Amino acid sequence: MKKVAVFTSGGDAPGMNACIRAVVRGAIYHELEIYGIRYGYDGMIRGDIFKMSSNSVCNIIQKGGTMLKSARSMEFKTKEGRKKAFEQLQKLGIEGMVAIGGDGTFTGASIFYEEFGIPTVGAPGTIDNDLYGTDFTIGFDTAVNTALEAIDKIRDTADSHDRVFFIEVMGRDSGYIAIQSGIGGGAELVMVPETLTSVDDVISTLKQGWDKDKTSSIVVIAEGEKEGNALEVAGQVRAQLKEKDLRVTTLGHIQRGGTPSAADRILASRLGLGAIEGLMNGQKNVAVGIVDDKLVYTNFMDAIKKEKPLNPDLIRMVNILSI
Ligand code: ATP
Repeated sequence: MKKVAVFTSGGDAPGMNACIRAVVRGAIYHELEIYGIRYGYDGMIRGDIFKMSSNSVCNIIQKGGTMLKSARSMEFKTKEGRKKAFEQLQKLGIEGMVAIGGDGTFTGASIFYEEFGIPTVGAPGTIDNDLYGTDFTIGFDTAVNTALEAIDKIRDTADSHDRVFFIEVMGRDSGYIAIQSGIGGGAELVMVPETLTSVDDVISTLKQGWDKDKTSSIVVIAEGEKEGNALEVAGQVRAQLKEKDLRVTTLGHIQRGGTPSAADRILASRLGLGAIEGLMNGQKNVAVGIVDDKLVYTNFMDAIKKEKPLNPDLIRMVNILSI
């Protein structure tokens, strides 16, 4: 293998730049030609591809977002779109790729390999931490810290006014951000898609706190919570607790941005180097990950489909520590 490419795809995550840097520098160290593809699969289809050097990735390790830009490409979901992408890669003689993204990105790479035989190694870049085959995904730690900082600030105002705050954090299908930021922020309750928490449970937990003279409360809710989003849950609680001042904050995209934490920079660097070295050593159709501090490669389908359950000890801990 002589020529390889790297791209970022799907939702951006802090630390993607550190990963790009590791892929590029790793490739150059091993005497490969490395190309950057802008805007993920969309850019691949358009041929928005450029040769990168060691200098291309100077001064990016500390930056959030992705210098290669990202996109969600509808065209790549079609066979014609993927054929165009293949022709663009063929023109440049690209023989392998590193895809930095989440489950959608890995699904696209897997289908592309089956159709056109271009081997790809995925590096898990998503703030949701919902991919099997790695203890943590790139961007998760930073997102938790961003959410935590917001929760701390909201706690100040909640406490000053004796309010109940419902804070919605990201996590369409998983409660990783919610559980970690909830524990770190001392939340009274955390609602995650993985467990059932009814509105009655919320009310009884809040009442228990008030009976013990708690004056303010924080409920952290993952956006994919089955009882509804933070506004909906707060609305149902408000209907039964009219005497209390309930407020809702949705943290939203703030969680995607910002300077990556030390943990994310180091994780992204290890995964980026692991991805390029794996590709050179014949890995394909796999995602690189770190499990128990060891580099591992997991088949794309397992990475996408297998469950990575929340640690039940964490859920139990929220309940114990919020009494
Ligand atoms: P995040 O977890 O942050 O959302 P992601 O990688 O899961 O990241 P998606 O938008 O789901 O983000 O997927 C990224 C891109 O992968 C899509 O825009 C699409 O181009 C491609 N992709 C996803 N699913 C498929 C599929 N079934 N076939 C071909 N391409 C796909």
